[in-house]
Amino acid sequence: MPTRRRLFLLAGFAAMLAATPAPAQERIKAVATFSILGDLVRNVGGDRVEVATLVGPNSDAHVYSPTPGDAKKLGAASIVVVNGLGLEGWMARLVQASGSKAQTVVATNGINPRKMEDEGHPGHSVIDPHAWQSIANAKIYVANIRDGLSKVDPAGKAVYEANAKAYLAELDALEQEVRAAIVKIPADHRKLITTHDAFGYFADAYGVQFISPEGVSTDAEPSAKDVARIIDQVRKQKIPAVFMENISDPRMMQQIAKETGAKIGGTLYSDALTDAKGDAPTYVDLIRHNLEQLAAALAS
Ligand code: ZN
Repeated sequence: MPTRRRLFLLAGFAAMLAATPAPAQERIKAVATFSILGDLVRNVGGDRVEVATLVGPNSDAHVYSPTPGDAKKLGAASIVVVNGLGLEGWMARLVQASGSKAQTVVATNGINPRKMEDEGHPGHSVIDPHAWQSIANAKIYVANIRDGLSKVDPAGKAVYEANAKAYLAELDALEQEVRAAIVKIPADHRKLITTHDAFGYFADAYGVQFISPEGVSTDAEPSAKDVARIIDQVRKQKIPAVFMENISDPRMMQQIAKETGAKIGGTLYSDALTDAKGDAPTYVDLIRHNLEQLAAALAS
């Protein structure tokens, strides 16, 4: 073969190699315990990180039963991102069973946890795990994820920092949007009913009152007495709207609406994203969807 032709072939081969993306197995394997966390990890990790989530879209992280597939995902991961604050009670056993050696990032590290009275046990307080419903807290999640990824993959530190910076700016803009929309709702209309106590951080941060028949977990059904108490409260306080949640049975909320005349405001996304075809496939979409539903139902 003439030298020129061989050189040409070699150059072509080198160009082909350069154009081939890094194979998937070279990406950092991350596991996030539920869909909302998975989206935050994807935003920070970008192309360097392959993210698997355990509790999928429209599913309830409070009462999850792990599968053998989950143990496999954990076994293969070099980083595991959990919410903490008691959300994933099923996680410790799963980590042990999987033999995982992954770095664990507790995304809520550094947030100010919200305590509330345990409904079934007066005098006892419980920690509210739904910290992501405050965007200021989601920003702390993002910083913890960025630092965790930089630790397990120091070569990607600059990428994680740039991705986090861009995403944090997006979250800042989102928070401005939330505040601007809530200011427009008449002050005495900023109250509503949802199935379980998932919006306490949102309520504290943005000044909307949420009342729920279920406590901070979905593991106990409310009693008939709880429901009767809520119905009474809706009537007395003239609460304008009742909302469903994507992870809960809508029937109790429909009953409350029927008995009180409150309108059904739609579905709020509390603890899970939707799938790609739904209204809330990302965290930013989730907040925006909830905001639109609130603003529309409480406006008048
Ligand atoms: Zn919840």
